[in-house]
Amino acid sequence: MKNPISRRSLLRHAGMGAAAVLAATIAPRRGRAADLPRLDVHDPAAAALGYVEDAATVDTKKYSSFSPGASCANCMQLQGKAGEAYRPCAVFPGKLVAAAGWCMSWTPEM
Ligand code: SF4
Repeated sequence: MKNPISRRSLLRHAGMGAAAVLAATIAPRRGRAADLPRLDVHDPAAAALGYVEDAATVDTKKYSSFSPGASCANCMQLQGKAGEAYRPCAVFPGKLVAAAGWCMSWTPEM
């Protein structure tokens, strides 16, 4: 007696199921970064590292390590999608930082 479900049909449906599971797993992660709160400059961790939302406002006397032109946008700690105004940062997990911002942990991109 021949099996009513062919091997090809079974594999095709298994593949569709795996794709659906993968899409359901990835979709919430994409949305999660955009939903993160913005880092408050008064947050103790942010204040300790001199974080500002606009690198042009860095107190260069207080933060002599600041390099002209440095900003979150060209820091290797910045994550997320290029071009977005606020993005995740490895130094401040769970928060978004301004791409135009800066802090003492600035590290030039390689
Ligand atoms: S570590 Fe880099 S990306 Fe993160 S806040 Fe500081 S300068 Fe910006």
